Amino acid sequence: MVLKIKAIGGYGEFGKNMTYIEVNGKIILLDIGIHLDNYITFMEDHEGLAPTVEELIEVGAVPDVFLFKERFNDVIAIIPSHAHFDHVFAAPYLIKFFPNAKVYASPYTTQFILNMFRQENKEIPTIITQDCNSRFKINKDITIEFIYVTHSIPHTVMICVETKEGRFLYTNDYKFDDAPVIGPKSNIKRLEELSPFKAIIVDSTRAVFPGTTKTEVEVREMLFNEVEKINNDARSIFILTFSSQLQRLKTIKDVAKRVGREAVFLGRSLAKYIYAAHDIKLTKIAPKQNIAQFPNKIRRILKMVSENPKKYIIVTTGHQGEPTANLCKIVDGILDYPLKNDDWIIFSCTVIPNPVSVQNRKILESKLAQKKVNILKDIHASGHASHDEIKKLIEVTKPEFIFPSAADKPFEQEVAKIAKSINYNNSIILEIGKEHIFE
Ligand SMILES: [Zn+2]
Repeated sequence: MVLKIKAIGGYGEFGKNMTYIEVNGKIILLDIGIHLDNYITFMEDHEGLAPTVEELIEVGAVPDVFLFKERFNDVIAIIPSHAHFDHVFAAPYLIKFFPNAKVYASPYTTQFILNMFRQENKEIPTIITQDCNSRFKINKDITIEFIYVTHSIPHTVMICVETKEGRFLYTNDYKFDDAPVIGPKSNIKRLEELSPFKAIIVDSTRAVFPGTTKTEVEVREMLFNEVEKINNDARSIFILTFSSQLQRLKTIKDVAKRVGREAVFLGRSLAKYIYAAHDIKLTKIAPKQNIAQFPNKIRRILKMVSENPKKYIIVTTGHQGEPTANLCKIVDGILDYPLKNDDWIIFSCTVIPNPVSVQNRKILESKLAQKKVNILKDIHASGHASHDEIKKLIEVTKPEFIFPSAADKPFEQEVAKIAKSINYNNSIILEIGKEHIFE
């Protein structure tokens, strides 16, 4: 039986995740994501013109599937681990190459994919929805098991690929959060039961950070405290976070309620993720009248808020200082909402460490300072595992091989170092286009 892993995207880089696993002549693809910065830069340069797949590959916006172009018909399953852009958003561009593939996804991920294809006006692929802890057969040689893990978006799963020769575990992305705000803790018990694994593919995003990643409940407490402190004197309160961070959006809704305000959510991407959660009845973030997707409604809600700002908390897009997002439009006067020196902007996020985001946020913060608006920053927890959680993953799964992934090379090398510190000298750092055949 030929058993092979091949790095297509998300090795030695952050973004455009795709791992190819071949079992006895058939192929499954784990994740089908974009590289967000490369994608946005390309789309901005092309001013909305529909891109070709070749162009997207050339600029590094989607995984280079032509690395296995002679095998397209052998791909029988595409399995996104969760609904983040860098794990699922290349599907509308690439799925046409795989006529024999079905998509398998958890309920929230399925709903997000459906909404995404409808919005792009593309033909919806066959999607088979599976629970977050479930086991299903792909063919006679491959059984998949979804194992629920905590991350920064609902219904994230680790994907166990079971073959006669052993089990593979794909862990992009996860953290072991002992106090999540939505959903249970990670299903570590199941990982223990399935252990030992033939190989694990490891999320290396935060490998260089010591200890464990902060929990969502800790962030919730921090936000409660900060907002309670400023609430009496603050006129408007804005809170900004990642649109897909549903746990944080729920926290903000609860924080608003606790201080006697009401949360409104303004922006297309926020609406997209919130409605996907409403559609599957996962959690209710806000009534429809408090969510605005398009400019007219955004203007209407902003007018309502400006007449009585102490009644609301405004959640909107633009946490990275993106020039076309709503917060920048407000600051630049494109959206009509006067900012004053008793207004507060809380960034419940970090700045993504790339030159574009760093520069955009700097510009935004200096404009806010000119208007004497008060700023609070970095009230945030990452969705990725730090040093101790990676160590725990290795200890629990007892892998024969370790493939660090989903980050720049130094981060992947750090995973190899963590493994070595507990006597696992079996890490293989794959480069894009390279493969490892299991003998
Ligand atoms: Zn993710």
